[in-house]
Amino acid sequence: MNFRLCKSASKYRLGELEDELGNVFKTPACIFYTGGGQIPYMTKDILEDSSLLPSILQMSLNQFVHAKDAITSFGQGLSGFTNMKNQPIYCSTRDPSLTLTSGYSKGNQGLSVWSLGGKYVFEAEDYVDYVESLRPSIVEILCEDYSDVSATNKKIDKCTEKSFNFLKRCIERFNKSDVLKGSRLIAPLIGGYNRQKRADYAARVSQFDQVFGYSLSGFHNFGTESFKMDFDYNKDFIDVVFEKVPEDKLRILPGSFTPLQIIQAVRCHLDVFDSSYAYWACESKAALTLNLEVEGHDLATSGDDLDSNIVFLTEARYTHDDRPILSRCTCYTCKNHARSYIRHLLLTKELLGSILLSIHNHHHLNEFFICMRLAMESDGLDHFEAKIKEKSLPALSS
Ligand SMILES: [Zn+2]
Repeated sequence: MNFRLCKSASKYRLGELEDELGNVFKTPACIFYTGGGQIPYMTKDILEDSSLLPSILQMSLNQFVHAKDAITSFGQGLSGFTNMKNQPIYCSTRDPSLTLTSGYSKGNQGLSVWSLGGKYVFEAEDYVDYVESLRPSIVEILCEDYSDVSATNKKIDKCTEKSFNFLKRCIERFNKSDVLKGSRLIAPLIGGYNRQKRADYAARVSQFDQVFGYSLSGFHNFGTESFKMDFDYNKDFIDVVFEKVPEDKLRILPGSFTPLQIIQAVRCHLDVFDSSYAYWACESKAALTLNLEVEGHDLATSGDDLDSNIVFLTEARYTHDDRPILSRCTCYTCKNHARSYIRHLLLTKELLGSILLSIHNHHHLNEFFICMRLAMESDGLDHFEAKIKEKSLPALSS
């Protein structure tokens, strides 16, 4: 995997990720959130019939830690184990859809991962051993952080020292690994709600040339808690960090974010997000109907009789509505099924209802990223954002 920064203006960045097969993924990019290696409610067959492949797939290491021995024995890495060969995999340390479990690592250097089987504590060398069995295209290194604004400087110092030593040892072990020669490292940037400590930590981490990119950590507690992240408040903390790291390296913001938060985040010079917002929409029995209006790729919802950027299809007003979710959408769901039919499936708890919603929501979120990049290329991000804001964006409630 390689990253090229194509445009870096004071407002935002545009770039490209390219995998070993020559597939190019434009940034700001949406990588696809998976649970157990699959996009929620989408089987491999459905995914192959969609327009979403090839895609970078996000897989959380906590979901596979209990299967380490099986993955190692299988011998084809996480992509083979999950039957997702030829799709680049970004292995993150946290599941964006799960609210963070608080807890303490034991020992001086080990860091913990919470999985269905309980807490696993990794030393740096063990962690890289585990990553060797996964063989991801990109992997995030574990860290210890707190999103608590009241965390003391002493606590922040303890976290940064522990995380820095862990990162350093991982890099040393990583450099000796033949198996991981093609894998790229993401270093979390931490430092709590202390600008100086964040800047100092970023400066220390920037010394490692082997680091492919950075993830911002400690700004929220994942799950639906991410929707509360206030970018106006956090922008200063993000700016001081990015001033200290090389501009040409990838920048990831882990977590579930609304489309309007993502627009704010690209203004904070971030490159990569995940699709877990589409998953939350499915869990809320909601269809994304974002008013996407941009020159060259107009998906405005003006002809769809909708008053918001999300519709909850179980509402009674869709009982006899034989129109597709969106008339201009080219996804399988919108080409073949009516709002009333999907409503019926959702109310009768037929799995097909969630499948059809998932197909539409992932397709539409992907269209949001395509439109957003087009708007950025033509310096029209403000207008693009204003068009979405013309309609309401209700909160998702699973
Ligand atoms: Zn659709």
